[in-house]
Order: sequence, then C-alpha cells, then structure tokens
Amino acid sequence: MSDAHTPELVIGIDLGTTNSLVARVVDGRPHLVHDGSGAPIFVPSAVSFLEGEQALVGQAAVERAPLAPERTVLSVKRLMGQGLADLSPEVRAQYGPELVEEGRKLVKLRVGERLYTPQEVSARILRELKRRAEEGLGQPVTRAVITVPAWFDDAQRQATRDAGKIAGLEVLRIINEPTAASLAYGLGGKDQDGVIAVYDFGGGTFDLSLLRVQAGTFRVLATCGDTFLGGDDIDRLLVSRAAALLQQQGIDPREPRLKAQLRRAAEAAKIALSSADHTVLRLQDPTRGVRLELELTRADLEALMRPLVERSLELCRRALAQSGLGPADVSEVVMVGGTTRIPYVRQRVGELFGRAPHTQVDPDQVVALGAAIQADILGGGHSDVLLLDVIPLSLGIETYGGAVTKLIMANSAIPAQATEEYTTPKDNVTAIDLHVLQGERELVADCRSLARFKLRIPPMPAGLPKVKVTFLVDADGILRVMAEEERSGAEAHIEVVPVHGLTEDEVDGIMADSIEHALDDVRVHQLIDLRNESATVIRAARRTLENAGDQLTAAQREAIVAAAARLETLCEGQEVGPLKEGLEALNQAAEPLAEVILNRVARETLAGKRLDEIEV
Ligand code: ADP
Ligand code: MG
Repeated sequence: MSDAHTPELVIGIDLGTTNSLVARVVDGRPHLVHDGSGAPIFVPSAVSFLEGEQALVGQAAVERAPLAPERTVLSVKRLMGQGLADLSPEVRAQYGPELVEEGRKLVKLRVGERLYTPQEVSARILRELKRRAEEGLGQPVTRAVITVPAWFDDAQRQATRDAGKIAGLEVLRIINEPTAASLAYGLGGKDQDGVIAVYDFGGGTFDLSLLRVQAGTFRVLATCGDTFLGGDDIDRLLVSRAAALLQQQGIDPREPRLKAQLRRAAEAAKIALSSADHTVLRLQDPTRGVRLELELTRADLEALMRPLVERSLELCRRALAQSGLGPADVSEVVMVGGTTRIPYVRQRVGELFGRAPHTQVDPDQVVALGAAIQADILGGGHSDVLLLDVIPLSLGIETYGGAVTKLIMANSAIPAQATEEYTTPKDNVTAIDLHVLQGERELVADCRSLARFKLRIPPMPAGLPKVKVTFLVDADGILRVMAEEERSGAEAHIEVVPVHGLTEDEVDGIMADSIEHALDDVRVHQLIDLRNESATVIRAARRTLENAGDQLTAAQREAIVAAAARLETLCEGQEVGPLKEGLEALNQAAEPLAEVILNRVARETLAGKRLDEIEV
C-alpha cells in the first residue's frame, strides 16, 4: 500500500514500431529500467509464434523472422485498430502471416491454425517488457503509461489500451509521443508557454507534430507525417549504390542472404558517417567470393539523402501552414528518432525553424523517458503537469434521415463533454438506435461508423420522449456515449470500442473532403431536417384533424388536407426553398386547428383535469 510520501510504481512504455522501451523516474530523473541481467530494457517489437501458445519476443523473434516469416510479426503497431481496408497494399505486403478480416472488421493475423488480433500480439511485447522490468526491479509492475503517435485515432488508442489490459497492465494513460518527448526536455512548465515542434525521424516513419503549451498543458495543433519515410530509406539508397558495384563484378545482389548483409553494411556505414567525415562500406564473404569496398564521405551521404530530408521539411511546412503559423512562431524544436543523429538532418531542421533543435537527450529514449515522467506524475511523485490533447476528427450522432449532428468538433481539447437533446418523430417508439460517427461531413454515408447501440424506452406519442445523449471523451481520448430518456429514466451507455481505425492519410482526406463538400453537405442536411420536421407536422395535423376537425369549417379542413398533401410531395424533391415554404403553408393552414385544441385544453384544465390527462 502506498501513502502520500511513497509514490506508487508506474512505468512509462514507448511501444514502438521497431523497438519498445521501459523507463521510470528515480530520484526525480527518468531512466530506462534495467532487466534482470542489468541491461536497459530496449526490446525489438517483434513476436515469433512457436507451435502451441509459446512465442519468442524481441531480438530472438527478429532472428527467427527469416526462418519462419509466416509465424513472425514485425511492426504490429501499424495494424493496431485497423480494418483490412485501412491498410495500403504496401503495408499489407510487409507481413509474413496472412492478414484476415473477421467479425467486427478488425484485422487479424493467421498463424498456423490460430488467429491473433494485433492487440494480442502487442500484448506479448508488453508482457515481455513487464516481465523484464519485474525481474530487474524485484517487484511487481502493474501500472503503466503507454505512448502512441499523436495522429492515432480512437480505435488505435483503444487497441493499445486493450493490449495493455491483456498483458496484465493497468494503463493509467495513453499519451502522445511528441508530448512525451517534450516532457523529457522539461518543456511545458507553467511559465513556458509557446509552440513546440517535435521532429520524429525514425527507422521507417516520419512525424512532425506542433504542440501548443499553455499554462502547463499540451495541445496538438497539427501533425503531418509519412508512414513510409525513415532511416531505412537512406539505407536502401546506399544498398543500391553498393549493389550496382556487385553487379559489375557479376554477383547477383538480390540473393536473400547477401541482401541482408548488404543492408547491415549500409546501415553501419550510414551510422559511422554521423560521427566521421569518411568511411568505407565493407562487405566480405570469402566463401562466395564477395569482396566489396565502397569509399563514402559525409558529403556523399548528404547528397544522396537530400531528397528524403526535403520531403520531411515539406511536411514541416505543411503542418505550419495548417496551424496558420510561421517558423518564427515555433519556440522550441525537439528531435526524436535515430535518424536525427545525422548532423545534416539537425542542420536542415535548424535552418527551417531558425533555431537549434534540442538534441541532448538520446533520441531513441526520449519518448520513453517522457512517458516515465507522466507515469511518475500519475503515481503521485511529481508536479501537476496536465496533458491536453485534441480530438482529431469530429464526433457525432446519426439523426433521422441519415444526417449527422456533431456533438464534439475536431480539434476540441480533451477531456471533452457535450450533450444534445432529441425526441422521436413517430408514435410509440420503443427502441431508439444510436449510431455514433466520426468525421467532418454532414451525412452518415460520408462519415466513419464508430458504434451502434439501442436505448429502450416505454411507448410514448411522437415528440414526447426527451432523449439526452452525452458524449464524453476522457483524458486518453476514449469516447463514452450515454443516452437517457428523461421522462422514464431509461438509460443506455456504451464505451466506444470503434470498429475501425483511420489512417493518417484518411484523416487528412476526410478533412480535405469536408471542406470541399461543406456547402453541398449543409444543403443536404437542411433538406433532411426539413423533411423530418415536415413528416412530424403532417402526421400531427392529420391526427388532430381526425379528432377535432368537426370544429372547423369545411374550407379550413380542405386547406389543411391540401397543404399536407402538397408538403408530402415536396418532401420527395431535392429543393430546400419550396420545402420550407410548403412547411410554412401547412403550419399556417393548421393554425385554426391549433386554436381549437388550445381552447379545449384550457376548458378541460379549468374543469380540473391535469394537462397530461387531456386526450387530443
Ligand atoms: P523507429 O522509431 O522507427 O522504431 P528509431 O527511432 O529507433 O526508429 O530509429 C531507427 C533508425 O535510426 C534506423 O534507421 C537507424 O539506422 C537510425 N540510426 C540510429 N543511430 C543512428 C546514427 N548514429 N546515425 C544515423 N542513423 C542512425
Ligand atoms: Mg520511434
């Protein structure tokens, strides 16, 4: 048990695409946790399934990958919370095990007879991290903070949280990687308001995030990235140079073992050039008569990789443009990922933002160290930095006729909450379908479906039920939806375990789409609202006419019947203007009817009847 003076042990985990790390704060400073053998926990994010339920995790799995590709999962992070349709052919081709889509439309991996969800595979990695940490620390580890890319959507965050749960970890919070990196640099203190650019150039991916820090809170202003831009691409450029030389010697560089050797040699040469001006890319395999020596200078490498760096800078400019900021508005630049060790990368990023980037913290560890700081805060050991993130896409609910009403807008800070009231346009509805959607467009068909659930209510006349729908996005970006019918007290709620994820490109696409279609959508939404209202008014007018029509003149009755019929026809059309006029006309024609009803209500109230007993 803990008291106010002994903070609870909470670890920070960087659950990476390539590598995963564990860190925690000791004496106020974050460090990587060491395992039982005394080595810092830095585990390749790889799982190789053996026969039965056993699996190798980490380096052993990486080494087994060429021997058992169809049983080995690398880069499982790219699959988290995704449906098959979310994955580009490029991504799908990366995986050894077959990818299948089942049930709730989330992708699974087929390994032999067994199907694994990405959450289960991730959980294997997390369990290994937990095990090593427990061995090293000599105490149980049950609580953690896990980092995810800033652009992860609800589905991807939820999948990460679930992976933690499966691994036996209570995930206290999911935080954004760029936020964690900023924390590791001590940025975000109470008097450090400003904009932080986090430039994350790793092995396979590039991400640029702009964060606004205000009064100790972080908000994501924009993220731009490329899921296929990284240090591996630099290696490939060197490989093709060397391969050309091998071909001149009459050696086929595509032979798998040679290819792997070539890639290792290329990466080693690249890394050497981060600290030396000159190196030799060496490849020797005497048994096969391969002997290659390629002289390389740092300038050679820079010329070769310039287009890749340009691409990353272009994404930085795009993020700035999206947030309406210029480079001079950025007050701090933080470097993350192994590729930012390359001096040329640091130089170009420094030039773009007009200030030297922070590079003192190891760029491989910086995310894990920041996660540890947040973990420490949650464990009760630290100050009170709040981490504020934003909702990437608007969240809403389907209303009648296929329109979407947004409750929480994109870029709202989380945690966020919103409530809307609805009623039913039909009599005696006993189940209300609630359909939760994500996206920027006005119509259900153009948004992503996140969840559906039912609220059962007692039968009531149209318009009487008061259904209050509340959306709550918690600090982890997880959405809970509650619905309550206030008259009957009927309740239903759902924690949205979204059936789908979105890729970053899709998020961009949805945003772009919504701007393009905004006018169109508004018109259609209006049309749907008018049709719904018309249907309600027509039904009410006809029913009241049946019950109380005898108190009107024949001309008045005919006017109502005609206006209702005309409105019914207009509802089938696509024009907003005439529909509005038709609705107005029926309302006017029905005015004498409303008066009759009001008079009757008044009489019966005077006669001692309660309002809700009056039959219309
Ligand atoms: P990821 O986040 O994608 O898992 P990392 O942040 O671990 O990747 O970065 C790995 C990449 O960094 C690899 O391409 C690796 O070759 C490169 N890298 C690591 N150290 C250096 C260095 N000193 N100089 C250049 N590149 C490096
Ligand atoms: Mg990384």
